Amino acid sequence: VRHTLVAAVAAVITVVVTSGEARAFCRERTCDPNDLKQQCEFNDNCVISGHLLQWRNSCVSFDAQEDGSPRYGIDASTVTEVAGRAFAPWLVADCGGGAGPSMKVGTFGPVECDEVSDSRRSNEKGANVIMFRDDVWPYTGAIDAYALTTVNFDTDTGEIIDADIEVNSAGVFQISVDGTTGTDLQSILTHEAGHFLGMAHAATDDHTATMRANWDGVGTDLRTLTSDDEAGICDAYPPTRQAASDCEPLNGFASACHVPADEPSGGGCALVPARPAGDSAPSALLGVCALVVARTIRRRKRA
Ligand SMILES: [Zn+2]
Repeated sequence: VRHTLVAAVAAVITVVVTSGEARAFCRERTCDPNDLKQQCEFNDNCVISGHLLQWRNSCVSFDAQEDGSPRYGIDASTVTEVAGRAFAPWLVADCGGGAGPSMKVGTFGPVECDEVSDSRRSNEKGANVIMFRDDVWPYTGAIDAYALTTVNFDTDTGEIIDADIEVNSAGVFQISVDGTTGTDLQSILTHEAGHFLGMAHAATDDHTATMRANWDGVGTDLRTLTSDDEAGICDAYPPTRQAASDCEPLNGFASACHVPADEPSGGGCALVPARPAGDSAPSALLGVCALVVARTIRRRKRA
């Protein structure tokens, strides 16, 4: 029986005025610092007790929710493209000797499901969804968050089961993709991609790290990782790590919500491999995979 918890993390708008020096990255662990009963141990603000979170395989997929953000006129294919650019710097991080992390990211294409995966439903197919909350931001405890990434994991091992990213497009942030006006979606998603891959907030309020806890929403500097961010992803997925290369979710990919794990998928689906090193386009690391068959058991009604 798999026991899972949900770790919700968010970037907040608060501008921190204390000047922090660059410190070590933090990785998410099974111990939840927000649950005092777990009595997590800390080093600075880094949790050091519990298992480290990590995807089991050396590839993971994300999928844009098919509606995108009607409010901001961002369609699903644009979300896919921007998210690909957001994942790219993590995948090409310098782990020393010219080697990058042993992790690839692919996508099956936009999906129908617009729900965050429920850890109690571990026997379902699914997708790791990037979705927008245009109408209501449901997280009253994180009202000032640009986005929120929910990571389900096995508490016994730290294996990440799935991760979903919700962008707060219902609030005051003027989400934009042009990099010059409003709050930059690629910057938000670069930070959330770090959470998606198992990174926690940097231990101190480093004003430059992509994984800093606080961001004023101005500019695009979160798009660029610091050496500390890069050290974090290299620690999680060292170049020499041996892992299966399958990019599908644990119980298989499904576009719809709540597809039972034993539902036949009806078709295989291979991801395009990364282009050889030296290719200049970082988004080339994003394998695009056409969905062959999407069987749905239950379709949800949209308002
Ligand atoms: Zn965050």
